[in-house]
This record gives sequence, structure tokens and C-alpha cells, in this order.
Amino acid sequence: MATQYKNLINGEMVSTDKTLEVLNPATEEVIGLVPACGAEELDTAVAAARAAFKTWRKTSMDERRAAIMAIAGAINENSEELYRLLTAEQGKPHEQAKGEIMGAAYMASTQASLDLEDEMVQDDEKESIRTRRVPVGVVGGIVPWNFPVSMAIQKIVPAMLSGCTIVLKPSPFTPLTTLKLAELIADKVPAGVVNIITGEDSLGPLITEHADIDKITFTGSTATGKKIMEGAAGDLKRITLELGGNDASIVMPDADVEKVAEQLFWASFMNAGQICIAAKRVYIHEDIYDDLSAAIAEYAKGVTVGDGSQQGTGVGPIQNKKQFERVKELIQDAKDNGYKFLIGGDVDPSGTGYFVPLTILDNPPEDARIVAEEQFGPVMPLMKFSTEDEVIERANNSDYGLAGAVWTKDEEKGVEIAEKLETGTVWINQFLKLTPHTPFAGHKQSGFGAEYGKEGLLEFTYPQVIMLKKNAPV
Ligand code: NAD
Repeated sequence: MATQYKNLINGEMVSTDKTLEVLNPATEEVIGLVPACGAEELDTAVAAARAAFKTWRKTSMDERRAAIMAIAGAINENSEELYRLLTAEQGKPHEQAKGEIMGAAYMASTQASLDLEDEMVQDDEKESIRTRRVPVGVVGGIVPWNFPVSMAIQKIVPAMLSGCTIVLKPSPFTPLTTLKLAELIADKVPAGVVNIITGEDSLGPLITEHADIDKITFTGSTATGKKIMEGAAGDLKRITLELGGNDASIVMPDADVEKVAEQLFWASFMNAGQICIAAKRVYIHEDIYDDLSAAIAEYAKGVTVGDGSQQGTGVGPIQNKKQFERVKELIQDAKDNGYKFLIGGDVDPSGTGYFVPLTILDNPPEDARIVAEEQFGPVMPLMKFSTEDEVIERANNSDYGLAGAVWTKDEEKGVEIAEKLETGTVWINQFLKLTPHTPFAGHKQSGFGAEYGKEGLLEFTYPQVIMLKKNAPV
């Protein structure tokens, strides 16, 4: 029987009469029921956040840090229950789910050490001029289904640390682990500081347009990000948007084929390719194209696609039916156009679960939909290039600008190419790495503002300048 989950509003776990079903994408069984909140429940949560803001904004950084560390502690202490639930609702294999859960605790505890010091610009006998940071107010956080827990933490932690309070909405596809976490932290965070409410997509615009919310922090698709910007414009809410990507990986001719093959595979297929910063376009120099593409395909043959709760599964299902249909459509388009597949491409039409076989395409054209669009699935187009200038131009030929990677033994050359890529993050000889102390910020249509690090934290604050004229004639 499906478990009934509750929302966290004003320190209490609460339910609604109406509920939404949550499926396991590997079995298509209903595994949970969550509250279906609308305007009324949102108003209650926002009012709780507003009331809590009055006192939370006055707390010291140390008090805020202690509450964040309590959240990190709750995640660590309950990590097994959390990662098993995450696999059940999201689909990712246990090892990867564990990585997300432990990573969320790590990100929470390390970002808690960030500070918001005042900046003294001038302090002499005539005048003191100081810039301080004040919290923006009540934050609306909206997160997607691919990394539900790490994204939730990435909204909650900087909001709390800056002195803001938050109303967070998980994706309707993956709310369960976040609600389990809500239950674990309900008595560890002062009432109203963190509120977590669930509902259909239609709850999103109610948040972005809510008159008593001051800032929106959103992770999701570029299309939704544009709607959020519009919705938030009514009362000029502050916004941070982390959106889609179509990241290019560039493999130079000096790269070691065997060593790079495995890393490129996981850069592309981790979490079944449902990562904003996955390697979605792989450009391989023509000198090593045949050898490297064969090595990647060979490695892929040893990886099992299946239910993430089963031992030995390397790649799980697509998280939801809508995305499953979209990935199948892109594969069908590639077939219709006669592009060559190295492996995969045939989805079992009668199977249970949203499984797509590992699919690798052999040098499709640059304007193929499967190359030009964000696939967000276990699909990897490999493309051949000849010159450095050409590949940089092709990599940059995208409306997205989230991340990218360069693979070469020549580290200096790697840095030189990296600096020519129009993306917020570039890895050289590594992949999918984010750190708690550097900004993660999409260029172009991959985002607006930044998360992580000091820059991410500052987005939850306003600068306030205090100018004191000393010994003035008053
Ligand atoms: P989505 O945009 O469909 O949904 C994200 C969230 O927005 C969900 O909680 C959804 O309920 C809510 N939402 C939907 N419509 C809304 C609206 N009109 N107003 C307000 N909220 C609304 O995205 P998704 O399909 O859940 O996630 C996949 C996308 O997210 C991909 O494009 C991926 O690249 C992107 N993503 C980006 C990052 C990043 O950090 N840059 C990280 C993960 C995922």
C-alpha cells in the first residue's frame, strides 16, 4: 500500500484531503501519496514563513549554522532510509542515490561555514561608510525531479544562512525523500523557517506570483525559467534561475582512449543522463574518433540498465513518463533521419518501467535534434572534429552555456580551450564536479544569477550601505 506523506508548515507535519500519487519509475507502481496543495495551503505556508522571518532575520550566523548543521546531521543519521526512498521514487541506482544524499549533507555542512561580513569602505575621523548584507525576506524555492534532495538543500541552506525563511516546492514527480527529510528536521529548525509543500505544476505560478514572497530560487528547464521570470516581474521579485544545458565535451588527439572512454561514459550516462551538466555532445578529434567511439561502446556493453534497487544496476530508468516519451521521440527522429547508432536505440514497447537502452550515436550532423536539443536521457551523440577553432565554434554554437569539458594530456592547452568556451563551468580531465565554495552559474539561457559559494549566498541578500558623518553639526 502506498505510504501517505505530509507537508511541513510552521513546524507541523500536515495533510490535505486531496492527494497526488507518486510512482516508482522502474515498476510504475504507486509508492506514495502526497498533499495536493493549492492557494490556501500556500497562503498558510507563506504566512508562517513571514512570521518566522521577523525573528530569524535577527539571529546570529552561529545560530543559523547550528540549525543547518542539525539538518546535515539528520541526513547523515538517516542516510540509508533516505537513499533507498530516493531510488524508489527517482530511479537512480542505490550507489548514486547514496552519493546524492551524502553529497547533500556535505554541501549543507560546508556551505554553513560561509560568512556575510560587513565591508568597511571608509572609517576615518570624518566619516564611516559600511556595506552590510540584509536578508531579502521570504523565499519561494522550486526544484526539479533529477536531483530532488541536493536541489532542495541548495535552496534551503543559503536561504537559512542569509536570514531568510523559505517555502519549498519539490517536483510532483519526486517529493517523497524531501518530505521524509521534512519530517526529520521539523523539530530541528524553528517553526516557519523552512516550509515544504507539495502540489501539481500549477502550484509553481502561484508561488512565483505570490505577493508576500520576495525572492524565487528555481532549478528546472529553461522554458519554465522564462515563465518564472515573467511571473516574478509583477512585483520585481529577486530571482535565481538554474536552467538547462547542452554541455560539450572536447577530446583532443593526445587523450588516452581507454582511460577517457570510461570517464566520458559516466559523464554522459550518470543518473540515466538526466543531469543538467551531463556530457550531452561529445566532440572527438578525428585521429582517435574510431578507437575512442569503439571503446565507449564496448564499455557501455558491460553496464546494466535496470531497477536501481537491484544490485549490479549501473543505469536506472527515466524518471517519468513525459520525459520517457521525449527521449523516445528524439531517438525516433534520429532513426527517421538515418543517423547511425553504435549501440542502443530500441526501446521495448511492452516493457514495464521507463527504460531506455544506452544509446550512442555515430557522428550525427550538428543540426540533428538529438545533438542540438537537451536530451536529458541515456543518449550520447559522438561527433568528429578536425581543428581546435572548428570545435570551439561548434561547442559554443548553443543557446545554453552551463558547463563543458576538455580532455587532453596538455594541461596548458586544456586551460586555453576552456577559457574560450562560453559556459559557467569548464572541467579539464574531470567531469560533473561542483564545489561548495565556487559559483555555479549558467551563461546565456542556462541561468540567471548563481548558486553555491559566496556569490550564491549573496543572492539571498540586499546590500545596505550605512553612512555616518562624524561630529556633524546636528
Ligand atoms: P521543469 O521546469 O518542468 O520543472 C521544475 C519545477 O518547476 C517543478 O517543481 C515543477 O513543478 C515546477 N513548475 C512547472 N511549471 C511551472 C511554472 N509555470 N511556474 C513555476 N514552477 C513550475 O523541469 P524538470 O523537467 O523538473 O527538470 C528538468 C530540467 O531541469 C532540465 O532542463 C534540466 O537541465 C534542468 N536542470 C537544471 C539544473 C541546473 O542546476 N542548471 C539542475 C537540474 C535540472
